Order: sequence, then structure tokens, then C-alpha cells
Amino acid sequence: MSEARSLLENLSELLKRASMFGYASNLLYWDQQTKMPIDEAKGRAEIYATVKAEWFKLLTSNEVGETLKKLVGKETELDPGGQALVRRIGNIYERAKAIPPDLFKAFSEASLRAYTVWVEAKEKSDFKHFQPALEEMIGFKNKFAELYGYEKNPYDALLPDFEPGITSEDLKRIIQSLKEKLVPFVSLLIEKSNKPNESLLRGHFPEDLQRQLSLESLRLIGFNFNQGRLDTTVHPFTITIGADDTRVTTNFLPGELDSALLSTLHEGGHALYDQGRDSLIKWVYFDRGYSMGIHESQSRMFENMVGKSLSYWKFFYPKLQNIFSYYESVPLEDFYRAINVVKTSPIRIYADEVTYNLHIMFRFEIEEALIKGEIEVKDLPEIWNSKMQEYLGILPENDAKGVLQDVHWSLGYFGYFPSYMLGNLYAAQLFDAVKREIRDLEEEITKGNLKPLLAWLREKVHPFGLVREAPDLLREVTGEVPNSQYWMEYIKEKFDQIYGIS
Ligand code: ZN
Repeated sequence: MSEARSLLENLSELLKRASMFGYASNLLYWDQQTKMPIDEAKGRAEIYATVKAEWFKLLTSNEVGETLKKLVGKETELDPGGQALVRRIGNIYERAKAIPPDLFKAFSEASLRAYTVWVEAKEKSDFKHFQPALEEMIGFKNKFAELYGYEKNPYDALLPDFEPGITSEDLKRIIQSLKEKLVPFVSLLIEKSNKPNESLLRGHFPEDLQRQLSLESLRLIGFNFNQGRLDTTVHPFTITIGADDTRVTTNFLPGELDSALLSTLHEGGHALYDQGRDSLIKWVYFDRGYSMGIHESQSRMFENMVGKSLSYWKFFYPKLQNIFSYYESVPLEDFYRAINVVKTSPIRIYADEVTYNLHIMFRFEIEEALIKGEIEVKDLPEIWNSKMQEYLGILPENDAKGVLQDVHWSLGYFGYFPSYMLGNLYAAQLFDAVKREIRDLEEEITKGNLKPLLAWLREKVHPFGLVREAPDLLREVTGEVPNSQYWMEYIKEKFDQIYGIS
């Protein structure tokens, strides 16, 4: 065995021990969200924090640091998976070590407070109540940026927490070309009079029947129920609790047909990614994807490119009609148009496939300016509203539905929002590549055969996706750096057809 290989084995052993605490913390979290009696909330938060802290302590231990140091210069002797793993652990280790423990503790405590204040401020729609806490979080993040180091833009020091390999310049290039085409296209769709009839999706849909539908769709996309399960929560999520245990949750709304089904497909996409990890890294616990954009690309692909496609519904619609007989009299085409309705909403999480990225673009502009100190927190509500007007042509009713709608900044997550947009773009870029390589992909989906798609993802994206940077992965798999062209083409082609634009 080469020296590098044996060092990697040492590293794996150390990571395994850390990972046990990481996975245990995930199990505590999953239980809290799905089963735990309500009075345990406070106690559970403490247990969770203690177990999670143990993970972090072991992950950033001196032994890990020393092993990483010995590996420097020898990485090329490892196979690509080993190299990627060393790179990823090295990245986590260095970033963790850059922040003095006292500063990190102060930040963690402040973010807990900021979160509570944000909840109160949102309830009362009172931005001023949140302002000091937000200023404090930005102060922390500026200190972090200085410690991580950067060339020109402090925001670039924060992005690698969510999207390593992507810079603010990349984002500006992507956003500029997308904005030019997308803003007028959305206006065109909004002005069209032949709107899909959304009311087809509203009615009374008993939970047990919706669950049947969700389970069937998970089975269809290839979710492995021997290594996972589906449960119910208020906010759907995906969580991995061990090498062979990835669970998804969804939220059944009795009056809405599409909400739970599409959430299930979204989380199912995340779960397929986690279930497809290479055996070399399966045991290693990560508290988030390396590139959140790539993780999100997998959920968006199954939610939108598959789950809102005509091919998928040609196969799945009869199953829906079997469960909800009302749809026997609704033509497939009307149903397909209804799940693809486009309308501007002030709330990001309710945005449709077309307008979603616009929400992200202006959030990026605002948070970058905040970190660079170009704008002041006190002016945020006004700036937010004018950006929303510029990008979406609407104004939120109040700050609760505007600048206070998202939790991210209260937790100190600056640099997270772009991953949502990148996820959409990566999904389209990858989906274009798979369609070029598997010519009859859509035809197979029409027959209910999603195996070729999953097999392709399992070969090209899933094995080392959790440890590779997005630009690398995309260049290798699609031949191009991340760009917005494929997503825009996909959107135009799909919605030109749905809205009858010639
Ligand atoms: Zn997601």
C-alpha cells in the first residue's frame, strides 16, 4: 500500500469516529421534527447541540490536521475519489481553524438570539426589531471574511461555505446574461390571457391518498426504501442518518394536490443524490453538500424537469386518476398546464419554476452589498422593495412578506441564496447533457422508466458529488463551465409551448 493510501485510511478512521456523532445528531434532529413530544423541545436542543459539537471537535482535531499535513504533495497518488475527499476535509478543516474558538462561540450564541428576534420581527412585521441583530450578524461575517482571507471582495470569502469554486464575479456574469432574457420573458407570460387553470389543483385531497401518490412517485424515481423512508413534517427536508439511511419528509396540505407531491419529488432528488454516494465516502458525515448548488440541482431536476414534465405525467396521470377520480374528467393537457402556471409572488418559496431565479438574483445583489458595506441595514426594507419592483414588478404587502421572509440572514448564512439559483442552472445543464447522451430519455420517462436517468446520474454526478466543486464536476460531465444558457433555453422552450407563444 502506498504511503498516501495508508494515510487516507488513517484519515478515514478518524472521520468515521467524528461521523458517528454527526449522524447521531441527525437522528436526534429527525426525531425532533417527526416524532418527539413537544415538551422535550428545550432538552432536545441541548442534547443536539452537545452531540453536534462533539462531531465538530473530532473533525477539526489535531490528529486530522496532522494527517492532512502529511498528505500534502502526495494526493496525486490517490484515486480521484480519495483526492476529492482529502480536498473537502482540508477545506472544512482550514475554515474551521481560521476562526478562533471564542469568536465562533460568540457567533453561535448571537445567531441563536438573532433567529429568535427574527421570528418575533416577522410575526409583527417589524424590521426595526430585527435591525440590531442583523447588524451584529453582518459584523461577525465581516470578521470571518477577514480571517478566511480574500483578494478583492469579502463576499468571496463567504461563498465557499456553500459554493466553493464560484466567485461573485461568476455570479454577476451569470445573473447579467440571465436577467436580460428572463425579465422580459416573465412579463410576456404574465400578460398572456390564456392562463392555465390553477383551480384544478385545489379541492379536498385526504392525506392517506396523497401519501399513496407520494410513495408511488418516490418508487418511480428509484428511491431505495430499504435505505430510507418517508415521513411528515411542516417543512419538508432530506436527512442522512448513516451510510445506508437517507430519509425524506413532506407536508400534506388537505386542500392542495401539487404541494406535497412536488415537495416529495424535490426531496426525493436530494435523497437519490445522498443514496448514490460512493462507498468510500458513505461513512463520512457532512452537515451539508459541498456545493449546495449541485445538491439542489438534483432536487430541482426531479421536481421540475421530471416532475413537471409532460413525459412524466403521460405515465403518471392515470395513476393519479385512479386515486382521485375527479381527474378522470380533466384532460391531461389542462392538468399539465395547471402545475406549470407562472405568476409573480412576493414570497420566494411560493415562486414558480420561471420566476424563482429572479428572487435569488436580487437577494445576491443585496447581501453582497451588505457584506461590502455599500448599503446600510437600516435602509434594507426600502432597497428590498425597490429591487422586487425592478425584478418582479410587484411590491410586498409588508416587511413580513418582504425583507423579513427568509430565515437565512438571521443564521448568518450569507452566500447561501445563490446556490438555489445555481441549482436550477446546473440542473438544466446536466439535463441537457443526459438528453444528448440518452436520446430516447423522454420516451422512456413516458413509459415510466426512469432507470436510465438514475443510472446516468449514478455514474456521472452522485458518487463524488458531495466532495467535488461544481465547476469541476460540470466541466467534466457537460464540457462547459456553469452558465445560464441551458436553463434559459429549457424555460423558453417549455413555457413557449405551455403559453402558446410562437
Ligand atoms: Zn432543496
